[in-house]
Amino acid sequence: MPELPEVEVTRRALLPAAESERVESVVIREFRMRWPVPRDLPQQLTGKRIERLLRRGKYLLWEFGHGTLISHLGMSGAWRLWPSDAVPPPRAHDHVDIVLSRWVLRLTDPRRFGALLWHPASAGPVAEHPLLASLGMEPFDPRFGGSVLHAGTRGRAAPIKQVLLAGHIVVGVGNIYASEALFRAGINPRLPARRLGRARCKRLALAVQQVLGEAIRVGGSTLRDFVSAAGDEGYFMLDAAVYEREGAPCRRCGTTIRRIVQGQRSTYYCPACQRC
Ligand SMILES: [Zn+2]
Repeated sequence: MPELPEVEVTRRALLPAAESERVESVVIREFRMRWPVPRDLPQQLTGKRIERLLRRGKYLLWEFGHGTLISHLGMSGAWRLWPSDAVPPPRAHDHVDIVLSRWVLRLTDPRRFGALLWHPASAGPVAEHPLLASLGMEPFDPRFGGSVLHAGTRGRAAPIKQVLLAGHIVVGVGNIYASEALFRAGINPRLPARRLGRARCKRLALAVQQVLGEAIRVGGSTLRDFVSAAGDEGYFMLDAAVYEREGAPCRRCGTTIRRIVQGQRSTYYCPACQRC
């Protein structure tokens, strides 16, 4: 499943082609995604200029003067970028093309859990859209750090892994990144969130930024079938410290890495390095 790093890598790949460009046409071959693609999207976008391409959590926000196109990759989506004079015929699952003068941006999504929605400026700031309003802070927001994590975990009895995964304090900490960040910070994933003191919150906030930053740098991917906008196969940290390493020795201390299930998701950790 594409996670925040894949979305950010996609944004950076699309940016030079998309930003400040005018939409010549929009081709929709499949309207049935997680929510129906608006029927009037071609009329909304044709002739309009993409002013900025931003990301909020795992949503790409295509800002036009008169509104924002919100896109999400769901379980299996990817944007591909083709030069207009070399765009191949659409294949199955190539649901939408946004045609610019020099490039075609093509949305592929075999499982169709992704989304493409239009938010008119008249409906208010896009940050207040129901999909965005309750998102936690961006991990690279300068305001994010140990004190945000500390404040957000007070009174929370749920395990820290699940509190991170929920995304209400900070967005982008998907299943792989939660295991990796907790390992780096030396925190047991089962620890009730409220028991984290300031020092551990600071370490964890830093670890979150580090693992996400590294994943973005390697062109991060968690899914084998994720293909980045540039067309390269994505890959996530091949040297994951704990994720999917059940039974293998911890690289720091040699203790056997364990796997547990929390909220139906696998968590990997070192029982020696990660204390409650
Ligand atoms: Zn260890």
